[in-house]
Amino acid sequence: SETYLRIPPWLRVKIPCNHNYTATGDLIGDLNLNTVCQSAKCPNKFECFSSGTATFLIMGSTCTRNCAFCNIGNDPVPPLDPTEPARVAEGARRLGLKHVVITSVTRDDLLDGGGAHFAATIRAVRGVLPECSIEVLIPDFQGSLPALNMVMQAAPDIINHNVETPPVHYPRIRPQADYAQSLQLLERVKQAGHRSKSGLMVGLGETDEEVRGVIDDLAAIHCDIVTIGQYMRPSRKHPAVERYVHPDVFEEYAAYGREKGIRHMFCAPLVRSSYNAAMFTE
Ligand code: SF4
Ligand code: SF4
Repeated sequence: SETYLRIPPWLRVKIPCNHNYTATGDLIGDLNLNTVCQSAKCPNKFECFSSGTATFLIMGSTCTRNCAFCNIGNDPVPPLDPTEPARVAEGARRLGLKHVVITSVTRDDLLDGGGAHFAATIRAVRGVLPECSIEVLIPDFQGSLPALNMVMQAAPDIINHNVETPPVHYPRIRPQADYAQSLQLLERVKQAGHRSKSGLMVGLGETDEEVRGVIDDLAAIHCDIVTIGQYMRPSRKHPAVERYVHPDVFEEYAAYGREKGIRHMFCAPLVRSSYNAAMFTE
Protein backbone atom coordinates (compact mmCIF):
# COMPACT_ATOMS: atom_id res chain seq x y z
CA SER A 1 0.00 0.00 0.00
CA GLU A 2 1.02 3.61 -0.50
CA THR A 3 2.94 5.32 2.24
CA TYR A 4 2.41 8.97 3.00
CA LEU A 5 4.83 11.56 4.22
CA ARG A 6 3.78 13.17 7.47
CA ILE A 7 2.67 16.78 7.11
CA PRO A 8 5.42 18.85 8.75
CA PRO A 9 4.56 21.44 11.44
CA TRP A 10 5.21 24.46 9.20
CA LEU A 11 2.29 23.47 6.99
CA ARG A 12 -0.30 23.16 9.75
CA VAL A 13 -2.49 26.18 9.25
CA LYS A 14 -4.51 27.68 12.06
CA ILE A 15 -8.10 28.04 11.03
CA PRO A 16 -9.64 31.15 12.48
CA CYS A 17 -13.27 31.71 11.79
CA ASN A 18 -14.44 35.24 12.03
CA HIS A 19 -17.23 37.35 10.67
CA ASN A 20 -15.37 38.54 7.59
CA TYR A 21 -14.75 35.01 6.48
CA THR A 22 -18.44 34.22 6.37
CA ALA A 23 -19.33 37.58 4.84
CA THR A 24 -16.83 37.09 2.01
CA GLY A 25 -18.10 33.60 1.32
CA ASP A 26 -21.70 34.85 1.21
CA LEU A 27 -20.88 37.69 -1.11
CA ILE A 28 -19.15 35.40 -3.56
CA GLY A 29 -22.09 33.02 -3.47
CA ASP A 30 -24.63 35.86 -3.95
CA LEU A 31 -22.92 37.08 -7.09
CA ASN A 32 -22.49 33.54 -8.37
CA LEU A 33 -18.74 34.03 -8.67
CA ASN A 34 -16.05 31.37 -8.54
CA THR A 35 -12.87 31.80 -6.56
CA VAL A 36 -9.68 29.80 -6.80
CA CYS A 37 -9.53 30.03 -3.06
CA GLN A 38 -12.52 27.70 -2.87
CA SER A 39 -12.07 25.62 -6.04
CA ALA A 40 -8.41 24.85 -5.38
CA LYS A 41 -8.93 24.35 -1.63
CA CYS A 42 -6.23 26.90 -1.00
CA PRO A 43 -4.69 26.60 2.48
CA ASN A 44 -4.67 30.40 2.85
CA LYS A 45 -8.38 30.71 2.27
CA PHE A 46 -9.19 31.60 5.85
CA GLU A 47 -6.51 34.22 6.08
CA CYS A 48 -7.25 35.81 2.71
CA PHE A 49 -11.02 35.76 3.07
CA SER A 50 -10.77 37.13 6.59
CA SER A 51 -8.80 40.07 5.27
CA GLY A 52 -11.27 40.59 2.40
CA THR A 53 -9.07 39.24 -0.40
CA ALA A 54 -10.03 36.72 -3.02
CA THR A 55 -8.84 35.53 -6.40
CA PHE A 56 -11.67 35.42 -8.89
CA LEU A 57 -11.82 32.50 -11.25
CA ILE A 58 -13.47 33.43 -14.53
CA MET A 59 -14.70 31.51 -17.58
CA GLY A 60 -16.15 28.66 -15.55
CA SER A 61 -15.13 26.23 -12.86
CA THR A 62 -14.26 23.37 -15.20
CA CYS A 63 -11.23 23.22 -17.45
CA THR A 64 -10.27 21.90 -20.90
CA ARG A 65 -6.95 20.67 -19.50
CA ASN A 66 -6.06 18.21 -16.79
CA CYS A 67 -2.91 19.20 -14.98
CA ALA A 68 -2.05 16.50 -12.45
CA PHE A 69 -1.79 18.79 -9.42
CA CYS A 70 -5.01 20.69 -10.02
CA ASN A 71 -8.29 20.22 -8.24
CA ILE A 72 -10.42 21.79 -10.97
CA GLY A 73 -12.39 19.16 -12.85
CA ASN A 74 -12.62 18.83 -16.58
CA ASP A 75 -16.29 18.20 -17.06
CA PRO A 76 -17.81 19.99 -20.06
CA VAL A 77 -16.97 23.69 -20.05
CA PRO A 78 -19.87 26.18 -20.10
CA PRO A 79 -20.33 28.94 -22.68
CA LEU A 80 -18.83 32.26 -21.56
CA ASP A 81 -21.20 34.40 -19.54
CA PRO A 82 -21.19 37.99 -20.83
CA THR A 83 -22.43 39.24 -17.44
CA GLU A 84 -19.39 37.85 -15.67
CA PRO A 85 -17.03 40.86 -16.07
CA ALA A 86 -19.56 43.14 -14.37
CA ARG A 87 -20.19 40.60 -11.61
CA VAL A 88 -16.48 40.30 -10.88
CA ALA A 89 -16.26 44.10 -10.73
CA GLU A 90 -19.20 44.21 -8.35
CA GLY A 91 -17.62 41.50 -6.18
CA ALA A 92 -14.37 43.45 -6.01
CA ARG A 93 -16.27 46.63 -5.16
CA ARG A 94 -18.30 45.02 -2.38
CA LEU A 95 -15.17 43.46 -0.91
CA GLY A 96 -13.47 46.85 -1.02
CA LEU A 97 -10.36 45.32 -2.56
CA LYS A 98 -7.31 47.44 -3.28
CA HIS A 99 -5.75 44.70 -5.36
CA VAL A 100 -7.80 42.28 -7.42
CA VAL A 101 -6.47 39.01 -8.76
CA ILE A 102 -8.31 37.58 -11.74
CA THR A 103 -7.53 34.15 -13.08
CA SER A 104 -9.26 31.57 -15.22
CA VAL A 105 -9.42 28.00 -16.24
CA THR A 106 -7.82 27.23 -19.61
CA ARG A 107 -10.30 27.46 -22.47
CA ASP A 108 -8.67 25.70 -25.38
CA ASP A 109 -12.17 25.40 -26.86
CA LEU A 110 -12.43 29.15 -27.52
CA LEU A 111 -10.87 30.74 -30.58
CA ASP A 112 -9.24 33.52 -28.59
CA GLY A 113 -8.70 31.34 -25.51
CA GLY A 114 -10.81 33.86 -23.60
CA GLY A 115 -8.47 36.81 -24.21
CA ALA A 116 -11.34 39.18 -24.96
CA HIS A 117 -13.24 38.07 -21.87
CA PHE A 118 -10.17 38.69 -19.71
CA ALA A 119 -9.79 42.15 -21.22
CA ALA A 120 -13.47 42.91 -20.59
CA THR A 121 -13.12 41.82 -16.98
CA ILE A 122 -10.06 44.02 -16.42
CA ARG A 123 -11.91 47.01 -17.90
CA ALA A 124 -15.04 46.33 -15.86
CA VAL A 125 -13.05 46.25 -12.60
CA ARG A 126 -11.19 49.42 -13.53
CA GLY A 127 -14.45 51.13 -14.42
CA VAL A 128 -15.87 50.45 -10.97
CA LEU A 129 -12.66 50.69 -8.92
CA PRO A 130 -10.27 53.01 -10.73
CA GLU A 131 -7.81 53.06 -7.81
CA CYS A 132 -7.62 49.32 -7.48
CA SER A 133 -4.57 47.57 -8.92
CA ILE A 134 -5.32 44.58 -11.09
CA GLU A 135 -3.34 41.39 -11.45
CA VAL A 136 -4.24 38.72 -13.97
CA LEU A 137 -3.06 35.14 -13.85
CA ILE A 138 -3.51 34.00 -17.41
CA PRO A 139 -3.37 30.71 -19.32
CA ASP A 140 -0.88 30.25 -22.17
CA PHE A 141 -3.52 30.91 -24.87
CA GLN A 142 -1.70 28.13 -26.75
CA GLY A 143 0.92 30.70 -27.66
CA SER A 144 -1.56 33.01 -29.42
CA LEU A 145 -0.12 36.52 -29.65
CA PRO A 146 -3.48 38.17 -30.56
CA ALA A 147 -5.05 36.70 -27.40
CA LEU A 148 -2.18 37.93 -25.23
CA ASN A 149 -2.33 41.34 -26.90
CA MET A 150 -6.00 41.71 -25.96
CA VAL A 151 -5.07 41.20 -22.32
CA MET A 152 -2.06 43.53 -22.52
CA GLN A 153 -4.10 46.27 -24.19
CA ALA A 154 -6.45 46.31 -21.21
CA ALA A 155 -3.32 47.26 -19.20
CA PRO A 156 -3.47 45.22 -16.00
CA ASP A 157 -0.82 46.13 -13.42
CA ILE A 158 0.71 42.66 -13.22
CA ILE A 159 0.56 39.81 -15.72
CA ASN A 160 1.17 36.46 -14.11
CA HIS A 161 1.58 33.11 -15.80
CA ASN A 162 2.85 30.16 -13.83
CA VAL A 163 5.37 27.71 -15.23
CA GLU A 164 4.34 25.43 -12.30
CA THR A 165 7.16 22.86 -12.48
CA PRO A 166 10.53 22.30 -14.20
CA PRO A 167 10.23 21.31 -17.88
CA VAL A 168 11.28 17.69 -17.45
CA HIS A 169 8.11 17.13 -15.39
CA TYR A 170 5.68 18.65 -17.89
CA PRO A 171 4.56 15.38 -19.48
CA ARG A 172 3.44 14.08 -16.10
CA ILE A 173 2.31 17.28 -14.37
CA ARG A 174 1.22 19.73 -17.06
CA PRO A 175 0.68 17.49 -20.08
CA GLN A 176 -1.05 19.96 -22.42
CA ALA A 177 1.36 22.80 -21.76
CA ASP A 178 4.74 23.65 -23.18
CA TYR A 179 7.47 25.15 -21.00
CA ALA A 180 9.12 27.10 -23.84
CA GLN A 181 5.74 28.54 -24.84
CA SER A 182 5.09 29.67 -21.27
CA LEU A 183 8.49 31.35 -21.08
CA GLN A 184 7.85 33.03 -24.41
CA LEU A 185 4.56 34.44 -23.13
CA LEU A 186 6.34 35.88 -20.08
CA GLU A 187 9.05 37.32 -22.25
CA ARG A 188 6.50 39.02 -24.52
CA VAL A 189 4.76 40.48 -21.47
CA LYS A 190 8.01 41.97 -20.27
CA GLN A 191 9.07 43.20 -23.70
CA ALA A 192 5.74 45.01 -24.04
CA GLY A 193 6.61 46.93 -20.88
CA HIS A 194 4.35 45.12 -18.40
CA ARG A 195 5.27 43.75 -15.01
CA SER A 196 5.65 39.98 -15.27
CA LYS A 197 5.18 37.34 -12.63
CA SER A 198 5.50 33.57 -12.56
CA GLY A 199 5.65 30.75 -10.09
CA LEU A 200 6.09 27.11 -9.39
CA MET A 201 5.33 24.45 -6.85
CA VAL A 202 7.79 22.09 -5.23
CA GLY A 203 7.11 18.59 -3.96
CA LEU A 204 6.09 17.13 -7.32
CA GLY A 205 9.29 15.15 -7.88
CA GLU A 206 11.63 17.97 -8.93
CA THR A 207 15.14 18.44 -7.57
CA ASP A 208 16.56 21.67 -6.16
CA GLU A 209 18.87 21.85 -9.12
CA GLU A 210 15.87 21.78 -11.46
CA VAL A 211 14.23 24.53 -9.39
CA ARG A 212 17.34 26.66 -9.78
CA GLY A 213 17.20 25.95 -13.52
CA VAL A 214 13.69 27.41 -13.68
CA ILE A 215 14.82 30.44 -11.67
CA ASP A 216 17.68 30.90 -14.17
CA ASP A 217 15.20 30.79 -17.07
CA LEU A 218 12.90 33.33 -15.41
CA ALA A 219 15.82 35.60 -14.59
CA ALA A 220 16.98 35.42 -18.20
CA ILE A 221 13.63 36.86 -19.39
CA HIS A 222 13.69 39.50 -16.63
CA CYS A 223 10.68 38.22 -14.76
CA ASP A 224 9.82 40.73 -12.03
CA ILE A 225 8.11 38.53 -9.43
CA VAL A 226 8.50 34.82 -8.71
CA THR A 227 6.51 32.75 -6.23
CA ILE A 228 7.52 29.29 -5.03
CA GLY A 229 5.34 27.23 -2.66
CA GLN A 230 4.85 23.71 -1.44
CA TYR A 231 2.58 21.43 -3.47
CA MET A 232 -0.13 19.92 -1.33
CA ARG A 233 -2.17 17.08 -2.65
CA PRO A 234 -5.79 18.19 -3.07
CA SER A 235 -7.10 14.61 -2.80
CA ARG A 236 -5.98 11.00 -2.95
CA LYS A 237 -6.64 11.00 -6.69
CA HIS A 238 -3.82 13.51 -7.14
CA PRO A 239 -0.08 12.76 -7.24
CA ALA A 240 1.42 12.12 -3.83
CA VAL A 241 3.68 14.75 -2.29
CA GLU A 242 7.21 13.66 -3.13
CA ARG A 243 8.87 15.81 -0.48
CA TYR A 244 8.12 18.57 1.96
CA VAL A 245 10.67 21.26 1.33
CA HIS A 246 12.04 22.84 4.51
CA PRO A 247 11.42 26.58 5.00
CA ASP A 248 15.20 27.14 4.99
CA VAL A 249 15.42 25.68 1.50
CA PHE A 250 12.69 28.08 0.34
CA GLU A 251 14.91 30.85 1.71
CA GLU A 252 17.74 29.49 -0.38
CA TYR A 253 15.58 29.60 -3.52
CA ALA A 254 14.75 33.21 -2.74
CA ALA A 255 18.38 34.17 -2.19
CA TYR A 256 19.36 32.41 -5.40
CA GLY A 257 16.72 34.27 -7.41
CA ARG A 258 17.71 37.65 -5.99
CA GLU A 259 21.31 36.90 -6.80
CA LYS A 260 20.22 36.25 -10.38
CA GLY A 261 18.51 39.64 -10.48
CA ILE A 262 14.84 38.81 -9.81
CA ARG A 263 13.55 41.67 -7.71
CA HIS A 264 10.73 39.97 -5.85
CA MET A 265 11.26 36.37 -4.82
CA PHE A 266 8.42 35.15 -2.63
CA CYS A 267 9.24 31.64 -1.47
CA ALA A 268 7.77 29.80 1.51
CA PRO A 269 5.77 26.63 2.10
CA LEU A 270 2.36 28.32 2.03
CA VAL A 271 3.08 30.79 -0.73
CA ARG A 272 0.54 30.58 -3.50
CA SER A 273 0.54 32.48 -6.73
CA SER A 274 -1.91 35.05 -5.42
CA TYR A 275 -1.00 35.02 -1.73
CA ASN A 276 -0.19 38.51 -0.47
CA ALA A 277 -0.23 39.62 -4.08
CA ALA A 278 -1.01 43.20 -3.11
CA MET A 279 2.42 43.67 -1.57
CA PHE A 280 4.06 43.60 -4.99
CA THR A 281 2.21 46.54 -6.46
CA GLU A 282 4.40 49.18 -4.87
FE1 SF4 B 1 -7.29 32.86 -2.59
FE2 SF4 B 1 -4.82 33.29 -3.43
FE3 SF4 B 1 -5.46 33.72 -0.90
FE4 SF4 B 1 -5.31 31.24 -1.82
S1 SF4 B 1 -3.62 32.68 -1.64
S2 SF4 B 1 -6.95 32.08 -0.54
S3 SF4 B 1 -6.09 31.50 -3.90
S4 SF4 B 1 -6.25 34.85 -2.68
FE1 SF4 C 1 -6.08 23.46 -13.45
FE2 SF4 C 1 -5.15 25.54 -14.85
FE3 SF4 C 1 -4.35 23.06 -15.44
FE4 SF4 C 1 -6.85 23.85 -15.95
S1 SF4 C 1 -4.98 24.65 -16.90
S2 SF4 C 1 -6.25 21.90 -15.06
S3 SF4 C 1 -7.28 25.17 -14.22
S4 SF4 C 1 -3.94 24.19 -13.53
